[in-house]
Amino acid sequence: MKCSCCDKKLNSGMVHKCDPQTGQQFKSCPHCSFANGHEHVFHPYPASFGKTPARVTARNPDGDQSYCYDCRRLDKGIPSGTYLQGRTCNSLV
Ligand SMILES: [Zn+2]
Ligand SMILES: [Zn+2]
Repeated sequence: MKCSCCDKKLNSGMVHKCDPQTGQQFKSCPHCSFANGHEHVFHPYPASFGKTPARVTARNPDGDQSYCYDCRRLDKGIPSGTYLQGRTCNSLV
């Protein structure tokens, strides 16, 4: 499934955007985007994600967590409820 706004995969946690008004950085959460179903859902980055050395790879040199904090607290298979508080792809640049 692809994002109706930017055409990248909805399950990508590697999409970075920023708010044109505040300059705040945002990153996509794959679990929240899946709950939305048609476009990426973003949360403030890095505040809503955090980092871990366990996730450092060549493609992810900072070790960013893929899911937002709220999604990481959910049990497997439970849909995200916090996607409603996120920013959608078309509201960011
Ligand atoms: Zn998108
Ligand atoms: Zn999330």
